[in-house]
Amino acid sequence: MIIESNQPILNSLKLCSIAKESVVVKNTDELHEIYKHIKNNNLRYLVLGEGTNIIPPEFFDGIIIKSNFNSISFKSPKIINVGSAVNWDDLVQFTLQNSIKGFENLSLIPGSVGASPIQNIGAYGADVSSLIDSVECFDLKKNKLIHLTNTECDFSYRSSALKNSSLFIQSINFRVDESRVLNSEYKSIKAYMSSNDIDVNQLTSDSLSKIVTDIRKSVLPNHNKIFNAGSFFKNPVINKDIINFHVHKESELVIWDIDNNLVKVGAARLIELIKDEIPPSENVFLYHKHALVLVTNGKANQSEVLLYAKSIQDKVQTTFNIKLDIEPNIIY
Ligand SMILES: Cc1cc2nc3c(=O)[nH]c(=O)nc-3n(C[C@H](O)[C@H](O)[C@H](O)COP(=O)(O)OP(=O)(O)OC[C@H]3O[C@@H](n4cnc5c(N)ncnc54)[C@H](O)[C@@H]3O)c2cc1C
Repeated sequence: MIIESNQPILNSLKLCSIAKESVVVKNTDELHEIYKHIKNNNLRYLVLGEGTNIIPPEFFDGIIIKSNFNSISFKSPKIINVGSAVNWDDLVQFTLQNSIKGFENLSLIPGSVGASPIQNIGAYGADVSSLIDSVECFDLKKNKLIHLTNTECDFSYRSSALKNSSLFIQSINFRVDESRVLNSEYKSIKAYMSSNDIDVNQLTSDSLSKIVTDIRKSVLPNHNKIFNAGSFFKNPVINKDIINFHVHKESELVIWDIDNNLVKVGAARLIELIKDEIPPSENVFLYHKHALVLVTNGKANQSEVLLYAKSIQDKVQTTFNIKLDIEPNIIY
């Protein structure tokens, strides 16, 4: 295990960012060593995956810890154990090859398996929380291994108990469940199937994964070419009564009912409606095909991104009386 100094922090927004120290760990013994190093030097730490959901600072005065736990194995016919360093879409491909249902709608989400429970990744009507049995972690504050059940992870929309915790995720146990049915209910999946004459009865795991992949490629930028962190804001979940419909009519917004009190509001549409009133930034922009995606030209830093985001949040607040929360993790 080698601790390196002043290395760039990998991030898909391509922000200029350096860490005081960084290290890659591949087993629990090395995590015990890192625990001592952190304690003896009173260091801050950040566990990092592929950097597709972070907004890092210009200088991180601490140690970046990356996982090299990279195996996939069957613990039993009903459980697959997957190392945190495995790429998420590689796992999806593994499940397709092994006829394991349930991962199709989450095809092509960037990033690592280890990060997937942190914000409970989700897309096209599915969330990773429904696939996870339990999570194997190492507590960097307590210097011990911890096994968390699905319930203990306390999953919710783009959040979990693992977010901002002291836990390094070593591996995740996913449930294999033959009774799962393919989920083609999402609006854009249905629209794709109807315009391509695909019969729901002929849908397979492979074809559903391909549909999701095609839709994603048509609306989302490839982060290796157009620098971004996916959806920049969460869709707000609020009481409908508080929304200001004086500037824009209710029919102009995208609103999904959640229960008798709460609705989820499409953040992308809110931004589309106010985007012409946002002061331009030199190095940060809205992606032309999707207003929820902020992109950079590779020359921006954290403050510039946050300033641009704040001008969007302020405009949405004054226009609709809705507070937008940032989805990627802001690292200080
Ligand atoms: C183009 C694009 C599209 C996207 N689409 C979606 C989408 O459809 N749905 C969705 O939910 N997300 C989406 N995202 C966000 C991103 O893909 C996910 O959040 C993903 O899980 C991040 O993985 P990562 O390895 O890059 O995590 P990182 O960005 O490296 O880290 C994210 C967070 O996880 C923590 N973390 C990472 N690994 C570990 C570990 N082993 N142990 C403990 N903590 C850890 C980090 O500390 C950080 O807080 C998208 C991003 C991009 C760029």
